[in-house]
Amino acid sequence: MSATEAAPASPAPGPLERVASELLPSLGADGVRARRAPYIEVFERLDAFITRQRDTGAEVLRFPPVMSRRQLERSGYLQSFPNLLGCVSALHGSEAAIRAAADVHEQGGDWTRSLAASDLVLSPAACYPLYPLAGGRGPIPRDGLLFDVAADCFRHEPARHASRLQSFRMREFVCIGTPSQALAFRDAWMERAPRLAEQLALPSRIEPATDPFFGRVGQVMAVSQRQQALKFELLIALETNTAPTACMSFNYHLDHFGLAWELVDRAGERAHTACVAFGVDRLVLALFCEHGLDTRRWPPTVRKALSLP
Ligand code: 5GP
Ligand code: ZN
Repeated sequence: MSATEAAPASPAPGPLERVASELLPSLGADGVRARRAPYIEVFERLDAFITRQRDTGAEVLRFPPVMSRRQLERSGYLQSFPNLLGCVSALHGSEAAIRAAADVHEQGGDWTRSLAASDLVLSPAACYPLYPLAGGRGPIPRDGLLFDVAADCFRHEPARHASRLQSFRMREFVCIGTPSQALAFRDAWMERAPRLAEQLALPSRIEPATDPFFGRVGQVMAVSQRQQALKFELLIALETNTAPTACMSFNYHLDHFGLAWELVDRAGERAHTACVAFGVDRLVLALFCEHGLDTRRWPPTVRKALSLP
């Protein structure tokens, strides 16, 4: 090509890429990003907006990014999503053994061979630590129980796009009660959520969904989940001409957690559970992609909903 020939123009980056490069610096591993101040401001205001939607009487709990490995095993996570799980490993043993293992790195070797699993895993969803906690408190009251939980969650699915992170914030409202209480809770949130998206001027739709169950047996589980209409998602398009992204999910677990954690009422009837998950990071991304990088120019209704100054 001669110096006078124009190089083919590279396509302009879409809104997702622009937002990510301005607000979410990559931290050297796919799906792991820092958050810059304008993003944090919207993130915190959205979190407060979600708090204003909380049902009265809900108990508030915030969980760390790690949880008990045994509890997650007992919840059946390894049967469904072994590929997504991150387990905390550490150097164990005497001072000499740990020093020797660490020195392998200084000598150019692979120190990670000396790692062994600890009793912690990275929480894959905000509601998992709740069920054992509730199960240890005695019978579920007649009116059921409501919770507001959140955690930084981890899923081992590195991806280049900022819409799929390995580490992301999940906020959940959870109901533990009778089958009809759990189902009514889940269905009421499916009614409410599109109206919340409207307040944020985010075009959305709700669709039946399945969890990404692992392997061939997982496909059977997904078919059964869809047939029983257990999971729905609120989808928002982050960019035109790309598949919309799940920004919330509405899940009815039947008695899965009730069985694992002996959640029962006073009569010994096993409890059912449901959760509504807000993918807070994806919702913040959706806001910036839809309304632009300058929050001062966002629609007045959105600024009001988020109490932006
Ligand atoms: P679920 O448990 O339904 O898979 O996830 C609940 C919500 O967490 C999803 O609707 C989504 O908003 C959010 N979420 C799930 N996976 C990811 C991810 O890889 N990255 C981000 N940013 N959010 C996710
Ligand atoms: Zn949940």
